[in-house]
Amino acid sequence: MTNENPFENVKKQICSCTEFLGISPNVEEFLKTPMREIHVALPVRMDDGTVRVFQGFRVQYNSALGPTKGGIRFHPQETIDTIRSLAALMTWKCALLDLPLGGGKGGIICNPKELSEGELERLSRAYIRAIYKDIGPECDVPAPDVYTTPQIMTWMMDEYSTLVGHNACGVITGKPILLGGSVGRGDATARGGWYVLKEAAKDHGIDLAQAKVAVQGYGNAGSFAASIGAELGCTIVAVSDSRGAIYSEEGLDLKKLDAHKAKTGSVKDFEGAENITNDDLLALKVDILIPAALENAINETNADKVQATIVGELANGPISPEGDAILFQRGITVIPDFLCNSGGVTVSYFEMVQNFSLDRWEESDVQARLGRKMTRAYHEVAEIAQGHSISMRQAAYTLAMKRVVDAMKLRGWV
Ligand code: GLU
Repeated sequence: MTNENPFENVKKQICSCTEFLGISPNVEEFLKTPMREIHVALPVRMDDGTVRVFQGFRVQYNSALGPTKGGIRFHPQETIDTIRSLAALMTWKCALLDLPLGGGKGGIICNPKELSEGELERLSRAYIRAIYKDIGPECDVPAPDVYTTPQIMTWMMDEYSTLVGHNACGVITGKPILLGGSVGRGDATARGGWYVLKEAAKDHGIDLAQAKVAVQGYGNAGSFAASIGAELGCTIVAVSDSRGAIYSEEGLDLKKLDAHKAKTGSVKDFEGAENITNDDLLALKVDILIPAALENAINETNADKVQATIVGELANGPISPEGDAILFQRGITVIPDFLCNSGGVTVSYFEMVQNFSLDRWEESDVQARLGRKMTRAYHEVAEIAQGHSISMRQAAYTLAMKRVVDAMKLRGWV
């Protein structure tokens, strides 16, 4: 992990686009400023009878394109600057996918692994009690993110509905299907990523049936990335989790691996595979490397060792700016996070549409719509990148930021 403030990195990224887009200094200042931030203290009765006060945040970064949208993270090392940076990223993500939504993000400083089910529920409800006046289906719609689940979304939706006095399932996305969730939301981040990676592979002359893939992180996004990749014919040669990584040249049997992980709690020590380190995984000679864990996994210390042809950022911010510059110099194609992992928020948007119209779509419909949106966004970005000889990330920023600035101008904000 680099110690750099993640929000400073976001501001640098914004600066790097303003000249190209002809954005004036006052508009640049606006883009670098979260429009709204909520900081709350959350007293929670613990199982042992004591009260513990947690700290929570919600950042509504920019609502020029529509209601703000973005997940809620439960993480012991949460900081307001991480939330700010991820809320900014959601702004670009929604704009890039052409969703009528702005960007937001929330978080609570806590270690969910140390909380009982009851404590987690009370914490989730306390968070909503503290922010409910500032969220809603037409102003800010949270969703799952790191260490938050459909069950947590349900408690939050229920608490909100109780407070406003009517059923308001559209206040949050990523809910269980029974309560207004969308089919296809569970694996949407990974599936969306593969729609993009399929196009990138074509552009690089990579045949997926021959492709070797390594996935760093085996949580929700990473495990689905591995299984969908295997369905598409790829050989998944390596995966990792927080305890270590495993490698098999012939490819991992993912069904057996899932059973092994369910039994032992980790992918490590899987029969027929070799234990390797996380850094070994990132340095494997593969066609596609998918970082799907936390921030800054690839940075200035290891970017020179990456040997993949394409790196698809399925996590948010898995490559530090220094690491990114090294990969670009070395001619490695990076599919930036706010393109590669935008399948999650895209299906969240479909969930919002279904909730507003009290409808339920078929899975085939969700996937077809997701595929169209992701594929179009990929080609729009690739065209700008090629036309101007800039990285995919720079091209994606340019396109997304232009849409946000145009919306701000139309509204008369700038
Ligand atoms: N947390 C996901 C993301 O970072 C999804 C957000 C959402 O569905 O609103 O994109």
